[in-house]
Amino acid sequence: MTADQGRKTFVLKGIGVSPGIVIGKAYRFDPLDAQISFYKLNNDDLIPHEVERFKKALKESTRQLLEIQENLKKTKVTEPLYILDVHILLLSDKKFINRTIKYIRRLSVNAEWALRMTLDHYKQIFEGLEDVYISGRISDVQYVVQRILRNLSGEKHEIVWEVGHEGVVIVSHDLSPADTAQMKLDKIVGFATDSGGRTSHTAIVARSMELPAVVGLDNVTRFVRTGDEIILDGTSGLVVVNPYPDMLQRYEEKKRHYDDAKDEYLKYAKLPAVTLDHYHVQIGSNIEFIEEIPSAIVHGAEYIGLYRTEFLYIYRDDLPTEEDHFNNYRQVVTEKNLLWATIRTFDLGGDKFPSYQKQAKELNPQMGLRAIRFCLKELEIFKAQLRAIWRVSALGKVKILFPMISCIEEIREAKRLLEETRQELLAQGVPIADRMEIGAMIEVPAAAVIADQLAQEVDYFSIGTNDLIQYSLAIDRSNERVTYLYEPLHPAVLRLIKGIVDEAHAAKIRVAMCGEMAGDPLFCLILLGMQLDELSMNHLAIPRIKRIIQQSTLSESHELLKQAMSYNNAVDVRAYVQDYMSDHFPDEFQKKET
Ligand code: PEP
Ligand code: MG
Repeated sequence: MTADQGRKTFVLKGIGVSPGIVIGKAYRFDPLDAQISFYKLNNDDLIPHEVERFKKALKESTRQLLEIQENLKKTKVTEPLYILDVHILLLSDKKFINRTIKYIRRLSVNAEWALRMTLDHYKQIFEGLEDVYISGRISDVQYVVQRILRNLSGEKHEIVWEVGHEGVVIVSHDLSPADTAQMKLDKIVGFATDSGGRTSHTAIVARSMELPAVVGLDNVTRFVRTGDEIILDGTSGLVVVNPYPDMLQRYEEKKRHYDDAKDEYLKYAKLPAVTLDHYHVQIGSNIEFIEEIPSAIVHGAEYIGLYRTEFLYIYRDDLPTEEDHFNNYRQVVTEKNLLWATIRTFDLGGDKFPSYQKQAKELNPQMGLRAIRFCLKELEIFKAQLRAIWRVSALGKVKILFPMISCIEEIREAKRLLEETRQELLAQGVPIADRMEIGAMIEVPAAAVIADQLAQEVDYFSIGTNDLIQYSLAIDRSNERVTYLYEPLHPAVLRLIKGIVDEAHAAKIRVAMCGEMAGDPLFCLILLGMQLDELSMNHLAIPRIKRIIQQSTLSESHELLKQAMSYNNAVDVRAYVQDYMSDHFPDEFQKKET
């Protein structure tokens, strides 16, 4: 059946990773589709000219990126500037340039072809590592190559972040965090991709930019052409291509509701999350960049519950120094509107790795030398960070959090190194706080099982559901082929979380949650029923979560949890929770969304 002008109507379901409803025109972005010309330089005299043409394209590409960077600085989205730095650095990378020039000279080929050979060379290296997570890096190289190619062609193409018209929904097979970060928010209103998952870094960047997005659609690029009308619902994960007029009308109505509700929700943001029967949950924000702090405060964050410091490492070629760490952390701990800042020591490896470092070949990086394991091997890198965290502890309230603890020895070793750095700083007369709260992330099932023992070692727990679910249900969190199995309401996940909370409370320590589950309104009463002390989330989710808590009671959530945990399968749990929530919060949850 067809809708507008003979164009087909499709409704596709993916994963809504950044909330909001947008209606716009589709723009197909296929960064890898460029045709690359090939010709031989028949005359050696042409070689210097070809090298010069390549150098000019490099220069122009750098100029363009600097300009985009400058423009980005003027917007409120300044977080992902670092990504552009990587691209600019690549454009002046000696090895990259020399290799391309070498191909031009030795093989007498045009600059485009030489560039393609350089790209192939890099691809081979990355593929040779057999590390699927490396794709994030190769896409940076590809992006840069695309830009140089465009400049070599002399054409002024429209590209994803320079589309000329407004109300554009980007449709692509995949978008790197870099692609996403560079979108012009006055033109682009959302994006839809075939691949990706809820916790991928592209999704995280989209949320921090407040850009509605649906990922993991599998084959959206097969169904959509540039110019198609498109509705994208970043909350439910629905994408409607060429909607019927009545559908469009319904969504326009929904969008109005959503936009009104957004302002309405902000009213709840300033008030604490206290239930009608006086149970108080503290609500914090997760951040990747310090630039997110003002928006986190506006949305009602009382503290920073998770600062993912690895982003300091990811978008640069060299190692951050102790001073770099210090100057960065200082800005978060001295923010007067925040009660405290939880600085998580870097979680490198997995789907995050630094650009300076040659990654060892790991078939299973999510289970490899990641997070605390990596830190306990790279002591110099780790101690520079620990020293900086101690130093900022003299300036404001800071809590330290160690990621991916899987056994007691790891937490003890991390604490030993923390104490060692404390002694070193004291001996040097550097001012530091008398005490700093130490937390362990509980995100490996083994840690959940020994929560009673780990609770003796730390001041608080923070439950990382992104990884806890990944490891307990054996689902690679960045593999879209298994995202359908990602189920926070799986009875095993609920039991694990409940066990962690109960053991923490038995040991009289506080327990927080900082995984994405904490910010999903559907799970809010389940988590309240478990009596988590703190929930830390993407800041856009805060007003909604506060509103639900403010309108609920602890006793009803105990009942809800009890009933939910009585089922032996996730389908029943989900049906029950969804019904309960849509009955009690009809504005927030609609029954069986179409
Ligand atoms: C988690 O695993 O839930 C978490 C918060 O950490 P990250 O997403 O950075 O792995
Ligand atoms: Mg984690």
